[in-house]
Amino acid sequence: MPQRLTSLRNPNYPRHFCPECADGRTEATAELALAYEAGSLEITNEVEEEEQCSVCLRPIADVPADERSYQIELQLTFSCTVELNAKSATSAEYTLASALDAISFDKAQDGLERTLSEQLHETEQIEIESISVDDCEHEVGEARSIPPFVSPTQERFVEHLRNFWGK
Ligand SMILES: [Zn+2]
Repeated sequence: MPQRLTSLRNPNYPRHFCPECADGRTEATAELALAYEAGSLEITNEVEEEEQCSVCLRPIADVPADERSYQIELQLTFSCTVELNAKSATSAEYTLASALDAISFDKAQDGLERTLSEQLHETEQIEIESISVDDCEHEVGEARSIPPFVSPTQERFVEHLRNFWGK
């Protein structure tokens, strides 16, 4: 089955590319990267007879399109919010940072590898040949003190006192 990659950055003049040029010719690679950024990239296996690659000028239907293995580096970012008790913001940050240094994320990395390959397959039918979650970095943000929890009953009581003292 052939494959056509089309940049629709200028909708009146779509630029078609064959998969060989898309991988090997700077002109095609650059245009497809811009189209991807702009959200105007179309990839399809339904190729019309007359559709020509705008670089090599071959009919795209005649260009062989075989699957190959590609390796992609991926960065996933999770943000976490942690609440803990400490005597100062600095000690809260310091304690958390040193605890994180001492923790092993091996199990979490294994779990993430499993989740990624299962979910990518389930949602997009992507066959993952291999996947390895390698690095786990952490960055501890600034600790802000959170006001103690006040229940509605306590609030009413304080209100009552204020009224009583006329403040
Ligand atoms: Zn081509």
